Parts: sequence; structure tokens; C-alpha cells
Amino acid sequence: MTFLTNVPNIVLRKKMPKKDINPQLLIRKVAIIGAGPGGLAAAIALSHLGLDVQVYEKAQDFRPAGTGLGIAPNGLNCLEAIAPGIISTLTKSGCPVHHNIFKSSTGETIRTNSTTFLEKYGRPLLTVWWWRLQQTLASRLPSEIIHLNHRCLGFAQDEQGVEIYFENGKTVYADLLIGADGVNSAVRETLFGEGKPNYVGSMCWRSVLKYHHELFNEYDLVFIKGNQQFMFLLNIGEGYTSWISRKLMPNYQLSPSAEAVKARILHELTGWDNSFRAVVEATPFDQIWEGPICDRPPLTHWSKGRVTLLGDAAHPMAPAMAQGANSTFEDVCELQACLSQATSLTEALTNYEQSRIHRTSVIQARSAVGEMRYYDIDISSQSSERSQFNNDEFQDWLYTYKPPAIL
Ligand SMILES: Cc1cc2nc3c(=O)[nH]c(=O)nc-3n(C[C@H](O)[C@H](O)[C@H](O)COP(=O)(O)OP(=O)(O)OC[C@H]3O[C@@H](n4cnc5c(N)ncnc54)[C@H](O)[C@@H]3O)c2cc1C
Repeated sequence: MTFLTNVPNIVLRKKMPKKDINPQLLIRKVAIIGAGPGGLAAAIALSHLGLDVQVYEKAQDFRPAGTGLGIAPNGLNCLEAIAPGIISTLTKSGCPVHHNIFKSSTGETIRTNSTTFLEKYGRPLLTVWWWRLQQTLASRLPSEIIHLNHRCLGFAQDEQGVEIYFENGKTVYADLLIGADGVNSAVRETLFGEGKPNYVGSMCWRSVLKYHHELFNEYDLVFIKGNQQFMFLLNIGEGYTSWISRKLMPNYQLSPSAEAVKARILHELTGWDNSFRAVVEATPFDQIWEGPICDRPPLTHWSKGRVTLLGDAAHPMAPAMAQGANSTFEDVCELQACLSQATSLTEALTNYEQSRIHRTSVIQARSAVGEMRYYDIDISSQSSERSQFNNDEFQDWLYTYKPPAIL
């Protein structure tokens, strides 16, 4: 087996009291595919139930990766329930946002809003680097339970258990398999065979770099609006800036090389203020990620037999509402609660998906509508989620989510 190395000791691991899983569940071994925020958070939560959890990740090592994320009050409530003390650790490496600054592509400030999350929902909006979040969660787990270089290809199951297959030729057995392997989930594909995700019409370029941006203060999140394109600048702490640029593109083609990606995004930003272009200019070409924004239609079930899904594998969504990771942490809390309370695995997984599918479908639909609103396109009449809520009601519903108690 390949074990995780080089996980910085960001926090001293707290000893959590282990609860005994309900013995009628008859499960002990849990395999989680994917060591992203969802898989690692699930590993922490289910280890606390006394389960033997192993995580399998396709990456060969943990390298700086991913974008800047906004972790909202609903996600922070869950993270704190999963790993007590983690908000304080993340606040040290990330940044609580105080102001949203809206700018034109030529650099003028259009408006500045103070964020009201803390007053309204008791938690801030915290910007963190996906990689820092991953490492912080990994540091709460024994390194020997995370197996890198394990790309899952699929699985087979029967009443006795699940057999999971990996590209490196290994096979492992578990009582429960959780697919936390993202938008192109191999576990979801084996379960439901849907093929490729749906391109939403929004192309993305992004990077994270050590950069001090002259245009914004430490606690600002900057949104820059161009003509059918936009850019976010996030301070994600420790001197790092995350930039994310998106453009409306009904069809897309990927650039032929990393050098061409950088040239292309700079071309897309022609006419933009130099201060915005400068952050892209300063980014090494091989550190710019280019790709389409994709989602998938909501599923009516997430589980079959001994296999279930969570996070982007279950409900991939456009990033417009910044809820992908936040709703993933909600999944983890609900799964943990259902496993701790049910009298059979079937009951636990049924309760889990029933508690999650409606909520995440609403967030997925709102995210698709929100993505197009950034380009001043209104697709709400085509959306399955035709405003049960006005905006304020929706925000309250979203951000006041509290994880269920673990009995
Ligand atoms: C531009 C952008 C901005 C975003 N901003 C926000 C935001 O502000 N707030 C927010 O909440 N969310 C945001 N998101 C969404 C967020 O990044 C995801 O929802 C979140 O990372 C999902 O976590 P996950 O663990 O389910 O999946 P992932 O983060 O995708 O992790 C999946 C893991 O599984 C591994 N894996 C994949 N396939 C296999 C396999 N076959 N075998 C083994 N391992 C495998 C991957 O290597 C990865 O480590 C944003 C997304 C994008 C693209």
C-alpha cells in the first residue's frame, strides 16, 4: 500500500471520544474513494463512530492544488461538528471576509457591501485554499488510513460486501463504499452509468499564487464584471491570492498547451485594467488551470446496496452559489447521523439520501441559474427550482443549516 507522506502537522490531533456504532448495522469496514474535502471529512466523522475507515485517492502525492473556496456558515457549522476546533485552525490559514467589492473591468469600484454573515448567521464567510482545507482535514486522520496512488476503476457488490478495484491492480473489500470522488466519479458511473457531466456554458481559468494585490485589503473579496465574463480575487491567507476567471462560452475547446492557456486568458482579458491582468501575468503558466464548469442533473437515489455517494459525486453544481464544498460537509453530517441511528445499513442509506436529495437539488438548480445571472442571462423559467423562496428567504434557508445531533 502507498501511504500518505508529508502532511504538515497543522494542528495537534484531538482525541475524540469514539462512539460504538449500532451493532445491528453489521458494518465495520468503510472504504471512501477520494481524499478531497468530502472524503476526508467523512473519514473523520465515521471514524468517530468507531468504524474502520480507509480512504483511497488517485493522486500520487498531495501537492498544492485546487482553488480558493468560500466556506459559508452552513459549511462551518458542519465542519466544526465533524472536527471540533477546525474553524480556529482554518481562520489562521484563511481569511474571514468583511467586504464584497464590485468593480468594473476598467477598475472602477461600483459598490462595496459589508458582509452580514457573522451578524445574521453567527459565522463568517471564510476564504480558504482547497489544498489547505484538504491538508487540515488530513492532519486530523492517521496518515496510514489514506492510500494515495489508488485510482478506483469500479466495484462489484453482493449481500456480503463490496469488492473495489483499482488501476494499480489492487482489490479491497469493505462493508460500505462511499464515492467521494468528485464530478467525474467512478463510483457514480458504476452505480448509474450516466457518462460525461453536463457543460453549463461557462469556461473557467484559475490559479493560486503568492501575490499581494494592491487593489484590495486583506478582508475583501473582489468581484470584477466584464462583458459576459467575470473574475474573482480572493485573499486566502498566508500571502496567497486566488483568482478565478469565467467566460460565457456556449461551446469550448481546451488550449493545446500550458503556455497557450496563459496566452489565451490574457487575450480574454484584453482591455481589462492592468491591475487585474497583472495577477495573471505573475502566475507561472504551468499553474493555471483551464476547464469547463460542469454539473449533472439531480439523482433520485444516491445509494444501491452497500454503496453511496457524497459531495460533488452526488450533486455536482456550478460554483455560482459557492455551495459545492459547503453542501458536501452537510452530507457528511447527515450520513454520520443516519449511520449512528439506523438499525440496518439499508435504513441508514435510505434515510441519508432522503434527508439530502431535495435540499441539494434546490441548491444545484439555484447554482445553475446563478451562474448564468453572472452573464445577465435569466434561465430561471427553465429551472426545476422555480422560486419557492425570495432571495433573503433562500439565504436564511441555506446558511442556517445546523448538523443533526449524533445520538
Ligand atoms: C472555480 C470553482 C470555485 C468554487 N468555489 C467554491 C466555493 O467558494 N465554496 C464551495 O463550497 N465550493 C466551491 N467550489 C466547489 C468545491 O470545490 C467542490 O464542491 C468540493 O471540492 C467538492 O468536494 P469533494 O470532496 O466532493 O470532491 P473533490 O474536491 O472533487 O475531491 C474529489 C477527490 O477524489 C479524487 N478522485 C477522483 N476520482 C478518483 C478515483 N477514480 N479514484 C480515487 N480518487 C479519485 C480526486 O483526486 C479528489 O482528491 C468551487 C469549484 C470551482 C470549480
